[in-house]
Amino acid sequence: MDELAGGLLKALDLRVLVVCCTGAARTIATKHGAAPAAAGVLGQGVAAGLLLAGLSKSESRLNLQLECDGPLRGMFVDADTDGNVRGYVKNPAVQVQVASREFRFRPALGNSGFLSVLRDLGNGEYYRSSVELQALELGADVERYLEQSDQVESVLRLEVQESGGEVLGRVAGLLLQPLPAGDRAALARFRETLGQGGGFARAVEDNDGGGAQALLRRLFPGEELEFTARCPVQFRCRCNQDRVLNALAALGQADLLSLMEEQGKASVTCDFCATVYEVDRAGLESLVARMEPA
Ligand SMILES: [Zn+2]
Repeated sequence: MDELAGGLLKALDLRVLVVCCTGAARTIATKHGAAPAAAGVLGQGVAAGLLLAGLSKSESRLNLQLECDGPLRGMFVDADTDGNVRGYVKNPAVQVQVASREFRFRPALGNSGFLSVLRDLGNGEYYRSSVELQALELGADVERYLEQSDQVESVLRLEVQESGGEVLGRVAGLLLQPLPAGDRAALARFRETLGQGGGFARAVEDNDGGGAQALLRRLFPGEELEFTARCPVQFRCRCNQDRVLNALAALGQADLLSLMEEQGKASVTCDFCATVYEVDRAGLESLVARMEPA
């Protein structure tokens, strides 16, 4: 069951978000025909994007962008507070991964790069911030992004597990942050037990499709846990004919005229869902006619 759930550990003043997004991640990886390592990083990106979007108090969207010098080259994830997510990697053919729980996908990412986050704050305002990749492990690098950019100490875990022959057998993420009076020692303890100690990985495995609220209960037995949010998560693309026409208009009149001349039509493929939009000569002509003369 794909869902995002938020909660508060009341006695410790820690807030926690958990996402289970196996179905959405699989749908996205399948759309791009992603090879195992590319699918794994995509799965992590989908979980990270949904968690970051889930931090927002008001309805908004968020773009998580990764640029790296490894064979994957980059990734783009677009998520919103309603649990909609879409994404792609620049090179979906990447197979290479190593036998390490923490750094399985490091060979796909390479040695350097950037992570940037663009938040849509509503009313046309955006906030962009980025960090250099350091760990070359998405969870650790997004965690550092949160600490640098949002100045909030964070524990972030992204889990992609194979199961029953499926590369994306289970995909889930966890984000833990202290409220202003939050118990930092408890946070450090969870960093140890849920992180390096493998507690989150075990809970995801045991939860096996049980949903985010069930996973939250499993992660913090014995803690006073108050559920604060719950929303279903799904793949959804925002592309449509109008957006395609807008993108074509952005090419400018001269390029559109030469496109008409040379090909008689335009064919545009959505990077996110691979839908192909065809705009015929008449469509291009009316687009040009609507534009200001150059
Ligand atoms: Zn699309």
